[in-house]
Amino acid sequence: MKLILLGAPGAGKGTQAEVICDKLNIPAISTGNILREAMKNGTEMGLKAKSFIDSGALVPDDVIISIIKERLVQDDCKNGFILDGVPRTVAQAQALEEMGVEIDKVIDIEVADDTIVKRLSGRRVCASCGASYHTIFKPSVKPDVCDRCNGQLIVRKDDEPSTIVERLKVYHELTEPLVEFYKERGKLVVVEGVEGVENTTKLLFEKLGV
Ligand code: ADP
Repeated sequence: MKLILLGAPGAGKGTQAEVICDKLNIPAISTGNILREAMKNGTEMGLKAKSFIDSGALVPDDVIISIIKERLVQDDCKNGFILDGVPRTVAQAQALEEMGVEIDKVIDIEVADDTIVKRLSGRRVCASCGASYHTIFKPSVKPDVCDRCNGQLIVRKDDEPSTIVERLKVYHELTEPLVEFYKERGKLVVVEGVEGVENTTKLLFEKLGV
């Protein structure tokens, strides 16, 4: 199955992508993770992306399109994949079509803006392994220490309050039009991003019929 996960930053795309990946045994591809890895390794692409990401802006379409072109031809994508956080603009969605990628379903996880702000401001990530936590919804056992690798938990630079507002603005302006784009193509499945990860997962699996 070839799936796209749409939704505002903090709607829970990454979390749900991991669950679907385990259930259907297809890779979850997150452009956000690929870009953060590139920044950590100091590659040319990482350096180019950093200022956009840190300010809450989108990374230019040409960078994203070349990441996706390279990733989707890899062997593990043969039986399907879940795109998490891409496409994020109409140009990216059109590029996927031009590449001949036939998407089965596009899942839009809907969460209200005020909930998003609450979720993102409590998010903590491990500086070493990237595991994700939340001060209220998913706290680590020891404060500020990763359960998995004992690394230090930090606030992602783009989760700082002023940047969150900017990211939401960008989402409504540039990404939300994709809801209509995929509705017109008969691909859209709307899932309410309800409280509790498992509850959202349940709704999602029901809608996907898996
Ligand atoms: P979240 O879903 O929490 O917003 P991501 O990890 O998906 O975050 O992305 C973090 C940042 O990486 C985005 O705010 C953006 O700057 C950049 N980015 C990720 N994917 C894309 C994309 N498809 N197009 C443009 N920029 C992207």
